[in-house]
Amino acid sequence: MEHASKSPRSPLGKNSKYTRSTALLGVLLLFVADALAARASFHGTQGPVPEALALRMRQHSWRQECPTPIADLVYMQLSHYGYDGAVHQGELVVHKELAREVLAIFKALFDRRFPVEKMKIIDDYQGDDDVSMADNNTSAFNCRFVEGKPGVFSMHSRGRAIDLNPRTNPMVVDGAVFPPAGSAFLDRNKRAPGILREGDPTVSEFTRRGWIWGGAWTSLKDYQHFEK
Ligand SMILES: [Zn+2]
Repeated sequence: MEHASKSPRSPLGKNSKYTRSTALLGVLLLFVADALAARASFHGTQGPVPEALALRMRQHSWRQECPTPIADLVYMQLSHYGYDGAVHQGELVVHKELAREVLAIFKALFDRRFPVEKMKIIDDYQGDDDVSMADNNTSAFNCRFVEGKPGVFSMHSRGRAIDLNPRTNPMVVDGAVFPPAGSAFLDRNKRAPGILREGDPTVSEFTRRGWIWGGAWTSLKDYQHFEK
């Protein structure tokens, strides 16, 4: 107490040179953080399926007997964080009635930095869902039958379903796992990027808008699947 007034000298003292460079570094880091933050803003677009893509879809993911015409689908570009922590621009084809909602959902996922490993058009995989799932690719429209139910068009055929990080969130039917590499994620309490769990904010972004989550089903589990 009695010595309190005896040290007017700054506690920084002769370290002030060090302090100045630390401050400079701090300013520099703030600048870098600002630059990164400015770059990492969400960009989402939606519009008619471009003619070049429609041509590819007619070769792979769409055919005449499909329940939804290409004119009722929209092509979207959506920013997302990858498993690498970087921002990527993904592509998705969905039903035009859901486009605004899908935009809002993926904006919310982006803002929360929920990682989506890949988001490429299913035609990049020749419309083969097994290959797309094995690549952990997030996709929506694909005119195909329900797994194990030939003749029954899946909600993906209407652009009304999205499979999110399918290897991390596999479908499990009678002990069979799709994709097979998804077996590594059967323990749903596992800590893994892009994993979806009951009550997660990511799952809620869909369900609070009236989407159904396949992870809540009881007859089978389809952790990657959302539909509306
Ligand atoms: Zn699905």
